[in-house]
Amino acid sequence: MERYAGLRRTILISFDIDGTLEEGDPPGILAIDFVREAQKDGFVVGSCSDRPISAQRAMWERHGIEVDFAVSKHMLAEVKSQFSADVYYHIGDREDLDKRVAEQAGFAFLWPHEALAKPWHKASFRR
Ligand SMILES: [Mg+2]
Repeated sequence: MERYAGLRRTILISFDIDGTLEEGDPPGILAIDFVREAQKDGFVVGSCSDRPISAQRAMWERHGIEVDFAVSKHMLAEVKSQFSADVYYHIGDREDLDKRVAEQAGFAFLWPHEALAKPWHKASFRR
């Protein structure tokens, strides 16, 4: 649930891994704690990556995060149909593999630095 400005909206965030999360190869600018805190605040979170799903799940397990979904890039539309949220975001580092895929699946797209600048990020993580 989003808590700023008196609004309570359910936000779903799909994270690309490589080039987006610090855990990625190459590492991106988003810390795993970004995901952890988002989940703690009631966001629906998961990964959407070209890594095998088993590898995605193993990565989350290593960090003790129980994600709501872990899917391949072509499955983003299914995520949207499986979860009810007010806003759907995909965060990634590639124009072709993230931005275009997200927009085709009906997600709003954010570059990693844009995610860090979001009001919900400030409201939730700068307590
Ligand atoms: Mg990437």
